[in-house]
Formats: sequence, structure tokens, C-alpha cells
Amino acid sequence: MSDITKACRDIQELSAQAQIACNLFMAECKKAGLNVLITETYRSQSRQNWLYEQGRTRDGNIVTWTKNSNHTGRMAWDICKNVRGQEYSDAAFFTKCGEVAKKLGITWGGTWSTPDKPHFEINKRWKSPIKEDTEMVEKDMLIVNGKEFTVEMIRKDGYTYIKTQDIGKALELKVSNQGRIPVLGKK
Ligand SMILES: [Zn+2]
Repeated sequence: MSDITKACRDIQELSAQAQIACNLFMAECKKAGLNVLITETYRSQSRQNWLYEQGRTRDGNIVTWTKNSNHTGRMAWDICKNVRGQEYSDAAFFTKCGEVAKKLGITWGGTWSTPDKPHFEINKRWKSPIKEDTEMVEKDMLIVNGKEFTVEMIRKDGYTYIKTQDIGKALELKVSNQGRIPVLGKK
């Protein structure tokens, strides 16, 4: 059993839809120059209960107002600013992240009557606002071991798809194929 005192930060522990939403959110924040760190994603009910006890039956500040969190339903994630010492002190940072979320149809906890600024979540009706027919190949940068390469990529649902030829070039691998199957190998 996982340690209830530890937060899970793995995006892949979210629901399939929430993974798309969270990846998209992270990608859009990055584009906006916001240095976001995920601090928690999925939370077991026992961890939620344990957090609820804090400040009530256990010492410490109250950190949650509910035992029914969307974290336990794999639909929510928490963030902070990825700058040491400024994790929660920059109000403008969270407001900007909230604006990114709004554009993507993601709910920001900062809009609630009891604000929870680090918190973001989707509901079951959420759909990616980025239409599939807007897919396009763009030239952008890939960094491998500190070296920059220009590669062709498609960005979709928060994921990046890079041309195999370009990956091969960046990793100094030989690119060939076996029928439809791309083959990468040592030169
Ligand atoms: Zn949260």
C-alpha cells in the first residue's frame, strides 16, 4: 500500500481525460512562460481522509475542507510555481495559470468561494477544446543533451509527435524502415 503521507505527482495516475487536460494545461502554461510544477495528482481516499484529519484531530493547519475530493476520482491536480522559495507566494502566477485553465475549459480552484489556488480539475463532460482538424506540422526546437535541433512536430492534446527522421538525426541514429515500421539503429 502506498504511503498516505506522500503525494503522488504522476500525471499518468489521472483518468484518461484528465491526463489530456493536464498535459494540455502544462503545455499552454509553458507557452505562456509559466514555470509550473505538479505537486499532486491522484489521491487515495485514505490519504484524503488523513489530510482531512490535519488541523482537526491531528496537529497542523487545515489543508482541505472536504473528504470528497476530485483528486480521489483522478480528475484533479495541484501545482506550484517551480521556483524555490516562491512556490506559493506569487499570486499573479496562479492568476495567469487560472486564465490558461479557463481557456481550456478546466476549472481553477482559485475561482471558488473558498479559493484553492493550487488546485485544477475537470468534470466528466470535459472535452479538449483543440480540434483535431487544427493539427499541423510545425518546426520547433528539440533539445538533446543540451544541444538544440530544429525538428518537425505535431502538437495535439498536450502531446508532441516528432518526425522519426528528425529524432534519428538528433540522437545520431541511423533511420531506415522495414515496410511501414520505422527502424532506428546505431550508425
Ligand atoms: Zn487539489
